[in-house]
Amino acid sequence: MSSSRVAVVTGSNKGIGFSIVKSLAKNFDGVVYLTARNEDLGLKAVKDLENLGLSVQFHQLDIDDQESIDKFAKYIKEKYNGLDILVNNAAIAYHHRENDQTSEIERVENTIRINFTATLNLCNALFPLLRPHARVVNVSSRAGFLSNIKDHKWIERISSKIFTIDETVELLKDFIQLSKTGQHVDLVSNCYAMSKIGINLLTKAQQVLFDKDPRQDIVVSSCTPGYCATDMTSYTGPLTPDQGAETPVYLALLHKNWNGPKGEFWADKEYLDW
Ligand code: NDP
Repeated sequence: MSSSRVAVVTGSNKGIGFSIVKSLAKNFDGVVYLTARNEDLGLKAVKDLENLGLSVQFHQLDIDDQESIDKFAKYIKEKYNGLDILVNNAAIAYHHRENDQTSEIERVENTIRINFTATLNLCNALFPLLRPHARVVNVSSRAGFLSNIKDHKWIERISSKIFTIDETVELLKDFIQLSKTGQHVDLVSNCYAMSKIGINLLTKAQQVLFDKDPRQDIVVSSCTPGYCATDMTSYTGPLTPDQGAETPVYLALLHKNWNGPKGEFWADKEYLDW
């Protein structure tokens, strides 16, 4: 078994995830795992980093596939019996895709399932491996701000207390249910925004549990990378993926015994009340 420190980044064959891996390969004292659902794309990305003189490891990981999650968790457990950094970066979005024929109901289901439920499933598999001082970064978006909710009852529901994980899951189930009759459009601008509201709530709920955890000093943060030129945005964003990686990497490398904000949302390396 290796005693190395270990970092894992989901959805890192391209875009911001790739840049996060690149930066961690330079700045993190440990092994960095570039993971991708498509093995060929992942291995090509690893080669691209090798050509830059950077060495990272690869493992297949489709967060939307429980078997793939379980295999990966088992691999990390057997090889390292621990995990120091988890960056939940993988996500999808439909709203920049022109000519996409996916029905609205499917868009809602797919977006909530991958961006929220699959992220939570991966956390459930990997959190038991987190070591003291571990850092978890949930890559979110300003789309996940309460100000993007249009319905005052939902604003009240969400802002009245800190949600538990189960309550967050229920909220997103309710959203999916409303989408069956098209009522979800009265709640929030799009399902991507709802998935990221879920991620921001999840982050707070996860920190509440880490605060009671016998493993000391585990910090989870959510953040926006900023609006970046990637496949997701059809290259409309003004920032490069490397610029987008800066805040997630900053949060992944928060120093030991961190006594700053925990469970909070960050942008440009500063935390915001969302
Ligand atoms: P990209 O679309 O460029 O990359 C998304 C990555 O996630 C790809 O590697 C993709 O893999 C992967 N992915 C999707 N589904 C899965 C899955 N089931 N399992 C594993 N990996 C998966 O997006 P960005 O780099 O732009 O976005 C990265 C993160 O930043 C996302 O969380 C996004 O919501 C967030 N964000 C991005 C902004 C932007 O302006 N770009 C702004 C705000 C937030 P594959 O190549 O196989 O599709």
